[in-house]
Amino acid sequence: MKIVMLGAPGAGKGTQAKMIADKYEIPHISTGDIFRANIKNGTELGKEAKTYMDQGALVPDELTVRILLDRVVKADCTNGYVLDGFPRTIPQAEVLDAKLSEMNEKIDYAINVDVPDENIVRRMSGRRACVNCGATYHLVHVPPKKEGICDKCGNELILRDDDKEETVKNRLKVYHDQTQPLIDFYTAKGVLKSVDGTVDMMDVFKAITDILG
Ligand SMILES: [Zn+2]
Repeated sequence: MKIVMLGAPGAGKGTQAKMIADKYEIPHISTGDIFRANIKNGTELGKEAKTYMDQGALVPDELTVRILLDRVVKADCTNGYVLDGFPRTIPQAEVLDAKLSEMNEKIDYAINVDVPDENIVRRMSGRRACVNCGATYHLVHVPPKKEGICDKCGNELILRDDDKEETVKNRLKVYHDQTQPLIDFYTAKGVLKSVDGTVDMMDVFKAITDILG
């Protein structure tokens, strides 16, 4: 079972991807993880990626695709995998599709964890972080015992720039520009399934397992 996860940053698709991987005993392949693994193990691909990252430059699409394809041919992927953070763009989706076709394979499901932008902005803007010890909180879901103060170290909590409404909105705009075409792409292939991502995490998971069987 080969699955692609789609969903806005903050929609919880990473969490769902992990749960799917556990239940169906297939690897959870996140682009960030495989980059780190290649760099850590000093592979040729990793060295190549590192030259870009050391310069603070974006790793080109073409290299990202090669790193991903190198991962999905590994033995543990025989029964499938769940891709998290890939493909991000239509060219990436097309290369993946072409490569899988060569092997007589295809993506079976593209799961879209659907959360309206307003909900995401609300989720993110409720986050608070401790700059001293790195602990994170949420005003509604994981509030600190004392308002504005870190439970662990007593430091003041802040709203990170990354979680500010303006930043989140900008990120969502980029996401929609890139992802709507992917939703159309997988819809045309008949594999797109959307689930309501606003409900409880376990209910989202239930909706997904109802689809996957
Ligand atoms: Zn702290």
